[in-house]
Amino acid sequence: MARIGFIGLGNMGGGMAANLAKAGHEVRAFDLSEAALARAEGAGCTRAASAAEAARDADFVVTMLPAGRHVVSVYQDEVFAAVPPSAVLLDCSTIDVASARAVIAAAAERGLAMVDAPVSGGIAAANGGTLTFMVGGTDDAFAKGEPILAAMGKAVIHAGAAGAGQAAKICNNIILGATMVATCEGFALAQKLGLDPQTFYDIASKATSQSWSMTSYCPLPGVGPTSPADNGYQGGFAAALMLKDLKLAVEAAGAAGASVPMGAAAGALYQAFVNGDDQGLDFSAIIKLLDGTQHKG
Ligand code: NAD
Repeated sequence: MARIGFIGLGNMGGGMAANLAKAGHEVRAFDLSEAALARAEGAGCTRAASAAEAARDADFVVTMLPAGRHVVSVYQDEVFAAVPPSAVLLDCSTIDVASARAVIAAAAERGLAMVDAPVSGGIAAANGGTLTFMVGGTDDAFAKGEPILAAMGKAVIHAGAAGAGQAAKICNNIILGATMVATCEGFALAQKLGLDPQTFYDIASKATSQSWSMTSYCPLPGVGPTSPADNGYQGGFAAALMLKDLKLAVEAAGAAGASVPMGAAAGALYQAFVNGDDQGLDFSAIIKLLDGTQHKG
């Protein structure tokens, strides 16, 4: 069993660290939040006093942090100097492609193996150990990190070189965000035109507009399979996180010279939605902005 330093024990990292401990690994956990540390301790992890202490003598370091600046500072200021040369570094946060590439290059300069390994799947998948990991890095770093990621997920896919995991994640979510907005528009318009939502679902779900957003995650309550819409749009994937990913995608597109008008439009709509009172809701609640039922902030 491995010694693992785990840094960032929030909504996602808390469950992921618990699953590593449950799999029998020795997990030394650190977070800035006392409540998060106490929860990790309760789940079988050992509390560390700093990110550096969590990383000291570790075989693997896993990070699950909010954004690129947190990842860069935790590795540059604490982890790189604390780990042994044989350590493998796994950043599972969703961050910008440029920061991911820069921090992996800085690790490589020190002879350290590192991958970007963002996840698909929300808090329930983090708790249940059913995340999908999209991994960027060398074949060697991927092979070394894969068994640890597999202990927290149902699929671990090597997307390509450093940064490719982040690239795959934002390309997936630009499609998801735009598809969700389009699905919500169609359902809101159908109702304005007097169509029964269930009847329209029965038609569209067997027609050319069918999508995951429609048939696995329908944004209307009482229609399709059980989804966050049936729970007042609580749980699921927060609209604020979809906005974060769309911003990362538009930023990456700008740097790469790619045209993403649909993603940019979806981003503007999620920004407007998040500016209102419903910002904590699931991203399918964007239908409230489109059908005019959103509370204004
Ligand atoms: P969160 O805000 O709940 O957790 C982040 C944790 O990092 C917090 O507990 C915070 O205290 C800690 N932290 C911040 N800076 C730190 C530092 N310097 N040292 C130690 N700890 C520090 O966020 P989350 O929902 O767990 O998301 C984590 C990452 O996963 C994000 O990049 C997010 O985009 C991504 N993600 C989230 C979801 C989701 O559904 N929540 C889904 C997929 C991907």
